[in-house]
Amino acid sequence: MEFFLDFSLIRNILEQENQRACGEIRNLGVLRALESSQQRHDARIAAAPDVGTLACRAGCTWCCYFTVDVRAAEVFRIVDVVEQLFTSAEKARVYAEVRANSAALRKLREGERVTRNLKCPFLSEGRCTIYAARPQSCRNYHATNVAGCQQSYEEPGNLDIDPDFAPGVYQSGGAHVEAFNTGMSDAGYDVNAYELNCALDAALSESGARQRFESRLKPFIGLSGEEVAAEFDGLEP
Ligand code: SF4
Repeated sequence: MEFFLDFSLIRNILEQENQRACGEIRNLGVLRALESSQQRHDARIAAAPDVGTLACRAGCTWCCYFTVDVRAAEVFRIVDVVEQLFTSAEKARVYAEVRANSAALRKLREGERVTRNLKCPFLSEGRCTIYAARPQSCRNYHATNVAGCQQSYEEPGNLDIDPDFAPGVYQSGGAHVEAFNTGMSDAGYDVNAYELNCALDAALSESGARQRFESRLKPFIGLSGEEVAAEFDGLEP
């Protein structure tokens, strides 16, 4: 789908969010800064000029079977939310699903992961059970036509399906995430992208993972993350 970049919108979000993120990472710590940024992220998307074109609604869950990329900070925030808010039975169910999904995914080659549907362990009874702490990529995923998401679910191996999206929402959410992650990177934190289940499994099973992250080291010994190139920073009109 072709669309025009709104350079003014992108530049404003990059500058505002990066400045705010750098200050909060320094003063509050990276996980509280992430929580604060996630609240602004939702407000940013709600303010996008074309937010009214979205087909996304509570109870629509096609995308909760697709691959989710996360940064390490998001993984540790999710673990904290699960530990604080979930019952013992809910924790046991979620962690068992995380381990099973991680084991299944580790058997696949890199390119095969995106061609499989896998229920997210946090999807329960048609809703996201970590909604306030859901990853950046879940916050940014959206469509203006449910049929495209449904078709992607029904044909997971068909990578040519590209659900229609809202350019303003895409640019607002993308620039926001990029600005926060640049702030984390500038502060020395790992900002590589990891698959959600594998990263959660590593965070739960590798002793010292959180401490390594907080010490600005690579947190997960058994996982290689993917460096994500900047999409918006440096764009010239
Ligand atoms: S974290 Fe929540 S929004 Fe994201 S895939 Fe899982 S259930 Fe869906």
